[in-house]
Amino acid sequence: MSRGTYERGTRSYTMSRIRGKETGIERQVRSYLFARGLRFRKNDRRYPGHPDVVLPKWNAIVFVNGCFWHMHQGCSKVSIPKSNVEFWTAKLTRNKRRDAAQIEQLTGMGWRVFTVWECQLDREHAQTTLEELYRQIVSVRS
Ligand SMILES: [Zn+2]
Repeated sequence: MSRGTYERGTRSYTMSRIRGKETGIERQVRSYLFARGLRFRKNDRRYPGHPDVVLPKWNAIVFVNGCFWHMHQGCSKVSIPKSNVEFWTAKLTRNKRRDAAQIEQLTGMGWRVFTVWECQLDREHAQTTLEELYRQIVSVRS
């Protein structure tokens, strides 16, 4: 793949995030949880990071993260684009720090925060990942 192609691809992916369009992975997680009977709010603007899924009844918040955009640690999907290296490094590092700060804030507010990564939702892992997420959400002492 040429450098130009990669760059264009990355940019359009970025643009789709900026427009706030629901991505396939968010939809995948929401439909699964909904099918299991959970009810939730989407992209709630009252909370830091506008979490993808907020489940007040379970005191739980779920972020569904793209591996590139949120710099999934040690993940093979994460590689800094070959051009504008400084720009991308700064931008992605900033994203990662912001994610961490938001999780800390939400945890401080008493929420249980779960993060699901894009690479855990591929054909091979999705079922296990989603079942485990559901199990964790509903396993609370009451
Ligand atoms: Zn990943």
